[in-house]
Amino acid sequence: MYKCLVCAWTGLEENPIKDLFSFEVCGCCGCQYGYDIKNLRDVITYREGWLLNSAPWFDNEINLEKQENNRPEKWSIEKAKARIKDHLSSMKFKINDKKDIY
Ligand SMILES: [Zn+2]
Repeated sequence: MYKCLVCAWTGLEENPIKDLFSFEVCGCCGCQYGYDIKNLRDVITYREGWLLNSAPWFDNEINLEKQENNRPEKWSIEKAKARIKDHLSSMKFKINDKKDIY
């Protein structure tokens, strides 16, 4: 599982920015890599828009095989912000690591 650069959810099936974009849609924030997200500016812009919209959980289908990655109980913008804050430094590291594609 891989972490979303926008929302820090760890439910992505593929590395979103390995060699090419995965084109996977994040189940938490709903961004699509390679479409919504093509560079670091897109990560920041999409995240700001998502938070301005109260950080809605994108995919509300329950997936029993990946239950730990489903929408957490009482999901809220506060939880979204806390998750992003907790992981921002590691996300920056990952982005710097892949700066050639940005
Ligand atoms: Zn996301």
